[in-house]
Amino acid sequence: MSKVLILEDDQQVAQLLQIALEQKGHTAIWADTGEEALAHLPHADLLALDLGLPDVDGVQFLNRVREIRPRLPVLVLTAKGDEQTKVYCLEIGADDYMTKPFSVLEFVARVNALLRRAYGAPKIKIHGLQLDEEGYRASLDGKPLKLSKTEFALLRTLASAPGRVWSRNELLEAVWGIDFDGTDRVVDVYINMLRKKLGDDSRDPRFIETMVGVGYRMREPKPQNPTPT
Ligand code: CA
Repeated sequence: MSKVLILEDDQQVAQLLQIALEQKGHTAIWADTGEEALAHLPHADLLALDLGLPDVDGVQFLNRVREIRPRLPVLVLTAKGDEQTKVYCLEIGADDYMTKPFSVLEFVARVNALLRRAYGAPKIKIHGLQLDEEGYRASLDGKPLKLSKTEFALLRTLASAPGRVWSRNELLEAVWGIDFDGTDRVVDVYINMLRKKLGDDSRDPRFIETMVGVGYRMREPKPQNPTPT
């Protein structure tokens, strides 16, 4: 959905963030030097910026970013949790700020909040289906579709990354949250309810494919009908 540029010299941290973002349907580009990040800057929708970098000063880099992309949402990551650094970052144009160590889930939530603030709630269009985050509105071939909040979240999760195979556990975590303590059977139950509402045939699906022994995925659109981002 969105391109998130991560400037972070710690490969392990970068990879965790990358995986978490991609699970939510974003494209994550990792740069470990300022120079590399600058090359990707024109195409980025958001920058996650580690302030402690070996080759450039993070704060100077942020100033440079502001010259090139004045309105790009920037989420600063830093080891320094002091009030002074925080205030300074916000003053020189960071939009949000997280102190390490932080939860990856919170990171993704903050990224999404910044993206929504900057570009509005995303609309997903695929296979005649339209999902509007604002108000949980959904329609199919132009006709409104009545979905519960959970059904909407499940459909949005699948539709936000067409072609990506989700295990039941991954869907549980993405839709029901890590605190959910039921069984993963609930995923199958909800997939069946969704299929009914979508009029989808599991043997010849227009939308949701069963990956036997693995989980589910949203069918990829045909190349001549690309998904708008
Ligand atoms: Ca660092």
